[in-house]
Parts: sequence; C-alpha cells; structure tokens
Amino acid sequence: MVFVTVGVRVPPSAPPPQMPSKKNILLINPWIYDFTAYDFWMKPLGLLYVASLLKQYSNLSVHFIDCLDRYHPLLPKKSKTKNDGRGSITKEESKKPEVLMDIPRKFSRYGLPLDVFRDEIRRTPLPDAVFLSCTMTYWYPGVQAVIEEIRRTWGRIPVLLGGIYPTLIPDHAASQSGADVIIRGPAEQFFPEVLKRILGDAAAPISEKPSTELPQPAFELLRSKEVLPLITSRGCPFRCSFCAGPLLYPGFNQRPLGSVADELEKDLRIHGAKHIAFYDDALLINKENHFFPLLDEIVRRGLNLSFHTPNGLHVREIDVPTAGMMKKAGFQSLFLSQESFDSGVLAGACSKVEPADLDEALNHLDKAGYIRSEVNVYLLVGLPGIHASVVKEDIRRVRKLGARPRLAYFSPVPGTVEWRKLVEKGIFAEDTDPLLHNKLAFAYIWGDITPEEFESLTVL
Ligand code: SF4
Repeated sequence: MVFVTVGVRVPPSAPPPQMPSKKNILLINPWIYDFTAYDFWMKPLGLLYVASLLKQYSNLSVHFIDCLDRYHPLLPKKSKTKNDGRGSITKEESKKPEVLMDIPRKFSRYGLPLDVFRDEIRRTPLPDAVFLSCTMTYWYPGVQAVIEEIRRTWGRIPVLLGGIYPTLIPDHAASQSGADVIIRGPAEQFFPEVLKRILGDAAAPISEKPSTELPQPAFELLRSKEVLPLITSRGCPFRCSFCAGPLLYPGFNQRPLGSVADELEKDLRIHGAKHIAFYDDALLINKENHFFPLLDEIVRRGLNLSFHTPNGLHVREIDVPTAGMMKKAGFQSLFLSQESFDSGVLAGACSKVEPADLDEALNHLDKAGYIRSEVNVYLLVGLPGIHASVVKEDIRRVRKLGARPRLAYFSPVPGTVEWRKLVEKGIFAEDTDPLLHNKLAFAYIWGDITPEEFESLTVL
C-alpha cells in the first residue's frame, strides 16, 4: 500500500462524536481532454470498486458523477450507440496545450458539458471527501479541471486521486493534479487507513472482518447498465517492453469462478446488462482451470449475454476448444493481440506471440463459426524502431488472412523498458510533460514514423 498526502491540506480528524453523523463521499469519473476519445466499452471500473468498498462502511453515503455518461438526459445531443454497445462521447473543442501544437488535430474536452457538470455538482450534498480516478497519464488535464470545479464550489475539501496515472507518475500527480491525497496501487489495500485519516471514526466497517474478496462493483451507480465491465484476473505473466500492466500489478491472480459467475448473473438478472466487456489482460492464461470452467458455467446458468474482449486475447491460446467454447458462450467481438509479424520486433518487444500464430487461430475460429472479416487484430504502431514499412506489411498480412486490422498506438509509459530506452536516447526526460505520452504524439512530435507515413497508414 502506498499513499502520499500532499502538503497539509487534509484537515486533522475531529474527535469522534458519540453518534457520528452521516458522511457524504463523492466519486467522480473525470472528463477526458484529448484529440480522440470513444466509448470502447469504457467504464470506470476502479471507481465502482471503490464505491462498493465504501458501501461496506457504516455512516457513509456514496454519490457518483460520471463525466463520461453518454446517457445523461441533459446532453445537447443523444450520443450514437452501436448494436454492440460502443458509442461516441459528447465533446466540446478546447484550447490545445502548447506542447501538442504540432499535432494538426482538434483538441477537445470529452464528456458532460460544463453547465451540466456544474448542475450535477450543485445537486450533490456537500461532500466530506471526493475520490477521482484517472487512467491515461496524458489525461491529467481532466482531473485538474474537475478539481478546479470542486474547489470553486466547495473550497478545500479532501480530494483523493487513484488509478493508473497517479500509480505510474505519483510525483507529477502530487504536484500538478490539485488532489490532496495520491493513491498508488490497488484501492482495497489503502482503504481502512486512508478512510480513518480523512474521516476519523465516522467510517467504521459494517463487518468486523472485511471480506478478503473484493465486493462486486457498485454498478447500480451507473445510469445505463446495458454494457458492464468484468475483470476475472489481475496482472499478466508476460513482460512486454511497452506495457504498463506489470508495473500496475506485478503478480498474476485469477478470481474464484463462483464469484465471477455470480457477478455475471447479477449483471444480467438485476442490472439488465446485455453486453459484458472483459477487462482482463490475460484472460486465456491457465484457461483449463479458469476460462473454460467459467464458459461452462455461463452456459449452464443460461447467461444470455454478448461478450467482448477489448483488451485483446493471446493469439497463441486460441485453439479448437477455446474457439468453440467462446462461440457457444456468446463471445461476440474478438480482438486478438498479434502486435506485429516481424520476428525482430516480436523478439525485442513481446514473447507472447509468433508470426505464424494468427493463421492458426483464425482457422480455429472459422471452424467454430466466427466470420473472419469480423475478427479484429491489433497491430502495434509507433513503437520506436518499427518503421512505417513494417506496419504496412503487417496490415497487408492481416488483410490477406481475411481479418480486420486494428492499429494500436504506442504510448510511452513511464517505467517500461521502452520508456527507459527513450530517456536514454534523450527523447524524453524523466519529468517530460505527460501530455507527450499521448498516443498520437509519436507520429507528429518524436517518433520514427513521419506524419505523412502515419496518415497513409490510417487510411490503408
Ligand atoms: S501480454 Fe499483454 S498484458 Fe501482458 S505484458 Fe504483454 S501487452 Fe501487457
């Protein structure tokens, strides 16, 4: 557990009253400031786990504002949603930060319009603490903007920030985000201590012995529950040179299957979910003991849901039984993480896949009844040393196999092998503005692919 208190902004806890009054805790999923953003089955799962942990404490009342709520009734325009649950996010053009001026695209704030957000804030009771989370390191302006609004409305109430951004670059988060407490790592580890520090004895766990399993995420806080996320494991046994996964969770743990199946059952029968997006990094690892029994259970319980795999599946793991069982259980959109066919690139960056793996996996998927042209294949673009010609060849190869290439843009994540290489080369400094981690920056500011080459790849 690591948490950092910034300065002395958190008020000391008051002496415990006889009957502690109810404390209001507000959770906010912040705006995204970026060139592009799309609801790719994107839900604030970490924050919803925090909400479920908070609900295990007496005397806490939990409130939630989702800046990326695509179903808010006061949105100026209804956002478009595809049949599979993905869809566009409302945006308003915003001033482009100076360091991104060379990227010839419009910069926007994605999510609720400012007046709608302010209205949400006005309708929320004065919070005793606010929790925020932030995923990408280069999305910190959304956190800053939300905290500014909080300060403008309520003054100096404790603001806690967790998620991937503060876990990866806590010093930046501590000095730039405006939050009072920076949380690094999984939320459940810091909970008792940080809550006591912020709220004093007002936050007492309902049970003397809190469960060692995380409670189910508080999906009831979402306005639309048609698409829900699911994570059945944490971590990944591989160590790809560009990936933040092992930095965020160094081990690899799979949840007990009973609790996963119970969660799915609740998603369907209580929340009315139709689509489930798996957020696992390594869903198919140890599949005989984890994924297969889960699929059997989904079929046995008659859980009629459509499943999606936006984080990418390990191509090598897709064999005859995997393909057949996924089809039977209702896996609809498949995303396969091939990354590249170049053996030099794969040897240097990731050992999880080999050039011949995709052909074999697609054959198995064909036999299970999947339509090849609907199978998505991630190809990495922007990794230092991978030139446009290599990516073009990768795209051609996926097309030749009849599948659908999907470009996955490289973002230099602090702490990874690729990040260290860029620092050694002098392209990045340790304290480079995280806005330059933006997934489009490699093509226009610092990468091995020229803007013209990049544009030609995106229209291939
Ligand atoms: S296999 Fe995927 S999740 Fe695992 S380290 Fe590589 S890129 Fe990250």
